Amino acid sequence: MKQHDALVGEPLALDLVNTRPADADHLESVESLNAWLALEAVRFPELAEFEAESDAALARIVAVRTAVTAVVDALLAGRPAPSAAVEALNAAQRAAPSFTRLSMKDDRFAAVKEYTGESEARLAARLAEAATELFASGSIGKLKRCEADDCRLVFLLTHPKRRWCSAERCGNRVRVARYYQHHRKHAD
Ligand SMILES: [Zn+2]
Repeated sequence: MKQHDALVGEPLALDLVNTRPADADHLESVESLNAWLALEAVRFPELAEFEAESDAALARIVAVRTAVTAVVDALLAGRPAPSAAVEALNAAQRAAPSFTRLSMKDDRFAAVKEYTGESEARLAARLAEAATELFASGSIGKLKRCEADDCRLVFLLTHPKRRWCSAERCGNRVRVARYYQHHRKHAD
């Protein structure tokens, strides 16, 4: 399976946005989408059932990413979210409605959420739902973009001093650049 270095570990909807850093597209092919899903299935086991097989499936997921990214960009800019993006997220969920199935195991009831519809529609709905829940939650107030000039990755401010998408990706790089800049200035 194709290996890639997409940033994962944020809420699923932000991880989806972060598959499109400034210099790469981690959802550029069906294979890379499946590699990303395998990466995310570690935290979200329900994603393990999905394996995209067609460019149409990929396009569907990329469309959800475009909508989520548009809302994220608007939030970070302090603008209202574009209604077309909001509608796209709702449409993705309507295409694969979910219901809570009552099941019984060992004399106990369990509530199991199930999505109807084809596999690719279910995956798009699952991602759109993750975005919907995040945007409607209080934690969206902690949305932030990485401070590195050439980085557009986003994250939730889990601790107040966090400034970078990740130390390895941007924090160290920017610190080293500033160090040299500072020393050059003093050498002049
Ligand atoms: Zn960054």
